[in-house]
Amino acid sequence: MLTRPLWNLRALCGFAAVLAIAAPSLRAAEPFGKTAEGTPVEAITIQNDSGMSARLMTRGATLVELHVPDQSGKTADVVLGFDDVAGYESDRNQYFGCTTGRVANRIAGGKFTLDGVDYSLAVNNEPNALHGGKTRSLDKVVWTAEEFEPRRGGAGVRFTYTSPDGEEGYPGELKLTVTYVLTDDNQLRIAYRATTNKPTPVNLTNHTYFNLSGAGSETVLDHELTIEADTYTPNDATQIQTGEIVPVDGTPLDFRQAHRLGERIESLLTTEALGYDHNFPVNGPFGGRPRACAKLKDPVSGRVMTVRTNSPAVQLYTGNHLFGQAGKGGKAYPKQSAVCLETQHYPDSVNHANFPTTILKPGETYEYVTVFAFTNE
Ligand code: BGC
Repeated sequence: MLTRPLWNLRALCGFAAVLAIAAPSLRAAEPFGKTAEGTPVEAITIQNDSGMSARLMTRGATLVELHVPDQSGKTADVVLGFDDVAGYESDRNQYFGCTTGRVANRIAGGKFTLDGVDYSLAVNNEPNALHGGKTRSLDKVVWTAEEFEPRRGGAGVRFTYTSPDGEEGYPGELKLTVTYVLTDDNQLRIAYRATTNKPTPVNLTNHTYFNLSGAGSETVLDHELTIEADTYTPNDATQIQTGEIVPVDGTPLDFRQAHRLGERIESLLTTEALGYDHNFPVNGPFGGRPRACAKLKDPVSGRVMTVRTNSPAVQLYTGNHLFGQAGKGGKAYPKQSAVCLETQHYPDSVNHANFPTTILKPGETYEYVTVFAFTNE
């Protein structure tokens, strides 16, 4: 007769112990500082059962740290960032780790026409608009964060933000959710969701700079890259899409087989892009199940990142404007010491009728997901 209550007691103690162990990872939000305007910013750390952890902050729904194991289990933080809000607000920040929008990438002249109305956006990248604006773009505003336990395990953070009608010149109140999930099999999944009360362009991405040897290592030019793209969308001298969709065949943009990033970059260094800064429609249909997009391998550490997405395209950017600025722990981030693989729509789609539309209408839901999966080879 004693066994049952004892067994129950033991089970209860066990449960309490599990709760005690689980509790810190369930509520790991901490103050990260304040914006210059005095708004408090929180950071949240999530971890999985396989040695990976991610630190996210509410300014810009930003990925601040991402610790990834190598073959021997040694982790390195593989993303560029800063230790405090002041770093993110400084001119050392070039969209590190943030959620980018309302419209990521460039809009020609900062102008578009929608339903007969002309819209003018801030020109923050002469002569164009870049990454959603000057002061209230999605990377600069403070989002609300909520941690949750995903049904399939791992850990998650859901960020929400409502962008008022007219913010940064865009029509419509836009309700946004960006959800990060770290799965127990070392995938970082980022899901984007948006609804609007007026037709409006939306193109969201995450602007993380990766160096699989660890942020602050000298270069990514030895990283090997594959991109599942038969074509790219060329741009003009102001880095605006010409509207053409051109085969990558025979160009340094052909990554259908793995190539070192540095292997064919030379001829691009003297172009307006100063290296790789190109947009590739990803092969296969978009909007459904995430499909293969890219694979990045660091031969030094053996870390591999594969990217799957249901977004239409991906921007490859080799950190051509990094200038050796000091980042986390005072480490320097030299030119081309990181690479961004920004899944998104084709740039300047609002001004190119032949590109898949970025106009979100009332009653529709903008929904895309990108999965960064980490392994070793
Ligand atoms: C763009 C680059 C730009 C950079 C700014 C990238 O997404 O493709 O042209 O310089 O963002 O950080």
